[in-house]
Amino acid sequence: MNQPSYAVVGGGILGAATARQLLQLKPGARVTLLEKEPVLAEHQTGHNSGVVHAGLYYTPGSLKAKLCRRGVGLLQDFCAEHELTYDECGKVLVALNGTEKARLADIAGRARANGVPGVRELDQAELADIEPHVTGVAGLHSPHTAIVDYAAVTRAMAQDIVDAGGTVRTSFEVTGLRQDGQQTVIQGSDGQEERADRVVLCAGLQSDRVAALAGDEADPRIVPFRGEYYLLRPERRDLVRGLIYPVPDPRYPFLGVHMTPRVDGEVMVGPNAVLALAREGYGWSRISGRDLRDAVGWPGFRRFAAKHWRTGATEMLGSLSKQRFIGAARRYVPELTTADVVPGPRGVRAQALDADGSLVDDFRINRRGSVLSVRNAPSPAATSSLAIAEHIVDTLLDRKEAAA
Ligand SMILES: Cc1cc2nc3c(=O)[nH]c(=O)nc-3n(C[C@H](O)[C@H](O)[C@H](O)COP(=O)(O)OP(=O)(O)OC[C@H]3O[C@@H](n4cnc5c(N)ncnc54)[C@H](O)[C@@H]3O)c2cc1C
Repeated sequence: MNQPSYAVVGGGILGAATARQLLQLKPGARVTLLEKEPVLAEHQTGHNSGVVHAGLYYTPGSLKAKLCRRGVGLLQDFCAEHELTYDECGKVLVALNGTEKARLADIAGRARANGVPGVRELDQAELADIEPHVTGVAGLHSPHTAIVDYAAVTRAMAQDIVDAGGTVRTSFEVTGLRQDGQQTVIQGSDGQEERADRVVLCAGLQSDRVAALAGDEADPRIVPFRGEYYLLRPERRDLVRGLIYPVPDPRYPFLGVHMTPRVDGEVMVGPNAVLALAREGYGWSRISGRDLRDAVGWPGFRRFAAKHWRTGATEMLGSLSKQRFIGAARRYVPELTTADVVPGPRGVRAQALDADGSLVDDFRINRRGSVLSVRNAPSPAATSSLAIAEHIVDTLLDRKEAAA
């Protein structure tokens, strides 16, 4: 009997985890991972904060909360099995006033409901014990929040795919999908072709466009938000022991400028969140007319901008002024100055917006016949990737078949 065949589009952490999961459930199946860039993890996966989120913020019972908690355990085991660094450096959230302290209590409640281990509320002295250079009226400590290198994790997943008999094809940009009998023909930009019985689309910043190739609806659409970082000069890395975060603004999906040690020893300060002028635009000089027209010309984005223009303007000023950017972190690390940092990496978030201008919060997964598309996989999707992959594969195969 012919083995079933599967193609996964997108060589970020989600595509790699999904292809790997398919091979685990269906050994002997033909599984191909297709990526348009010459190497894997070129976009969000290789340009993020590297934090393994413990699950502090998410609404208890939501898919995001459940997949995050399961994802943490799976990722920790994966890193142990593959000898990849998994550093439980811990994280503090810092409240600067009474309003933020009240929000911390709410986050602590959510964290406990989500089963995050070891979470503890801190007074000023306890906060100073953990992070001596931090000032705040109160804190919340998550000792098991960790850091990893998600690009390295993705490469290890790709090696597992190849070892299990799967194929990884880079420089394969999917430009069309059409049905041919029971199979989907996946067309590549330079005449390349793949065929598969079932297809999963995990195209990150291009996910709405790639889903549309499969006949999916145009909305929700992706709006790219760039996150910029500075790096601490080596001699100032002692300002930070673990991860230091502000209390997030509940009206906004991003977590605010934080201090993030990396597994290579660098410490990042950031990211902010500014509208990117191109979906894969990591600097101000990279402008895409198509991407800009798609965002600004769409009523959903205009509704979003009308609601959030004030925050947008503040973030933009922070992007243009190092003083303002570092000022955001100096609120809780007062010794930090602009002389302590140098420009660092940048990433672009694929944030899905609904037509009414609201930000899509949870993962958006849509199945249309034999094609399943992942439309919204924002943070903590790198943390949750192995658990999201289980969920995707169960949805693609339906649970009964997955268990067979
Ligand atoms: C600044 C920033 C900070 C973040 N911090 C964290 C964090 O600390 N912790 C965390 O858990 N998450 C974090 N995230 C989120 C996390 O990085 C993403 O949720 C995750 O990487 C999504 O993985 P992905 O595979 O869906 O997307 P991507 O990594 O973007 O992969 C999508 C892939 O699809 C490919 N592709 C697109 N179109 C095509 C096509 N037509 N044909 C073939 N291939 C195609 C792209 O080239 C790309 O490689 C952060 C994100 C950003 C941007």
